[in-house]
Amino acid sequence: MDEKELLNHLPLMPHKEGGKKFTKKELESLVEYFRNELSKKETCVLCGSITPYNKNDDINMREHYVEGAGQLCDKCFIDIYGEK
Ligand SMILES: [Zn+2]
Repeated sequence: MDEKELLNHLPLMPHKEGGKKFTKKELESLVEYFRNELSKKETCVLCGSITPYNKNDDINMREHYVEGAGQLCDKCFIDIYGEK
């Protein structure tokens, strides 16, 4: 995953008090933090987008997990199986 793609996946940045800008160092540690979090996430086996599930989540507790195939995102699941 490159930097640009990573930034697209970043949730809204928390605001600092007083509307101050983050320093480069703070931004770097935030990016590092999200990169770490993202590396734990399961990706869709078809399109590769990040799913809400962690790799160590129990597959029985997940939605859109297909036995023998793997984790699908909402969109691919609906494309294949149709709306629930
Ligand atoms: Zn997908």
